[in-house]
Amino acid sequence: MAIRTTNKCSFCGRTDKDVRLMITGINAYICDECVKRAGEIVNEALESTATSKLGINLKTMPKPKEIKDFLDQYVIGQDEAKRYLSVAVYNHYKRLLQKAGDDEVEIEKSNIIMVGATGTGKTLLARTIAKFLSVPFTIVDATVLTEAGYVGEDIESILTRLLQVADYDVKAAERGIVFIDEIDKIARKGDNPSITRDVSGEGVQQGLLKLLEGSIVNVPPQGGRKHPEQRMIPVNTKNILFICGGAFDGIERKIAQRLNTHVVGYHSVENAAKIDKNNMMQYIAPQDLKAFGLIPEIIGRMPILTYLNPLDRQALRSILTEPKNSIVKQYIKLFEMDGVKLSFDEDVFEYVVDKAIEFKLGARGLRSIVETIMMDTMFDIPSSRKKTFTVTLDYAKSQLEKANISRLQNI
Ligand code: ADP
Repeated sequence: MAIRTTNKCSFCGRTDKDVRLMITGINAYICDECVKRAGEIVNEALESTATSKLGINLKTMPKPKEIKDFLDQYVIGQDEAKRYLSVAVYNHYKRLLQKAGDDEVEIEKSNIIMVGATGTGKTLLARTIAKFLSVPFTIVDATVLTEAGYVGEDIESILTRLLQVADYDVKAAERGIVFIDEIDKIARKGDNPSITRDVSGEGVQQGLLKLLEGSIVNVPPQGGRKHPEQRMIPVNTKNILFICGGAFDGIERKIAQRLNTHVVGYHSVENAAKIDKNNMMQYIAPQDLKAFGLIPEIIGRMPILTYLNPLDRQALRSILTEPKNSIVKQYIKLFEMDGVKLSFDEDVFEYVVDKAIEFKLGARGLRSIVETIMMDTMFDIPSSRKKTFTVTLDYAKSQLEKANISRLQNI
């Protein structure tokens, strides 16, 4: 390619006198203005292919109710969290459909924070919603993150995972959803400002803030620690939706304290009586997160705050058999593959739930208990001629007692 001085642009017809620069191709010329315009057209076209590649359009995109119906098939209870998530995901899609500069009203993203005890279904909700989505989705753990310069992973590595699931398609990753688990673990420890740096606390939160509020972040393509020679990929987080989850152990006390100090005055006695002390989580408010050690800026960047209920007996019982891929259904399938029809007596389920409660194992323990009960049979049956197997209460009891259930307690 060479630059000449006496030619016409093959696209707009202007001569080199009217333009700043004319570029010569094999049989054509193009002026600097047309190059710029062509660049814009290419960008726009790529943007809309990216959106259509995701298969999103207003008519076909799933409505909040459909998203919730889908979640209902896999996750028991937690209605409020499901509704919040469904609406957030729906709005996320809508935002993706909005073209830049299209409208005066720019839809801003609303990141979400879910608070609930361990094993109540936060990760399950995130994973289930991922099945439903046509945008890149990843789950990352906040516990591995540390401030730059400390042992651990840089905050930007959160986006490495997203890039990886998007096959390094930056445009697709920039529309994705990230679930940050154990967000409570980066809370500031205690209120006393210490001279030593708070490695896992406030510094990480400050770093995370950049990601949440939407900015261009340089991401190390292989994750881990950034180092100077490494090539970085710039990723704009403006349209990435962040869903955070955490157990916030002990936050109930902060909620109770707040409720106690606020419940004064005319309605105090009446209001105090209405408080359901068995489930304080439902009263959670942003100021409780602050009391727990999240910085106000971070809280402000996660405007949607929702909670998960503790799982009661009834919920545990349902988890065992009702979800589309419930533990029991999974075992039946495993046996079916060996040509064996597996069934359970009803009272076995009650027994499993009793044990999960007795040993404070929660929903996570249900699987381990069933696994322990089924272990011997799973070992023996593929080599036997049996075509049916029924788990009776006596069998379940004997298997569990033999296995010394107390070793399950550290899950
Ligand atoms: P969390 O992220 O809140 O600590 P998880 O989502 O990892 O908890 O839950 C652990 C396991 O317990 C899940 O894989 C699932 O088998 C079961 N479980 C927990 N809560 C529910 C629920 N609400 N409905 C169905 N299964 C659940």
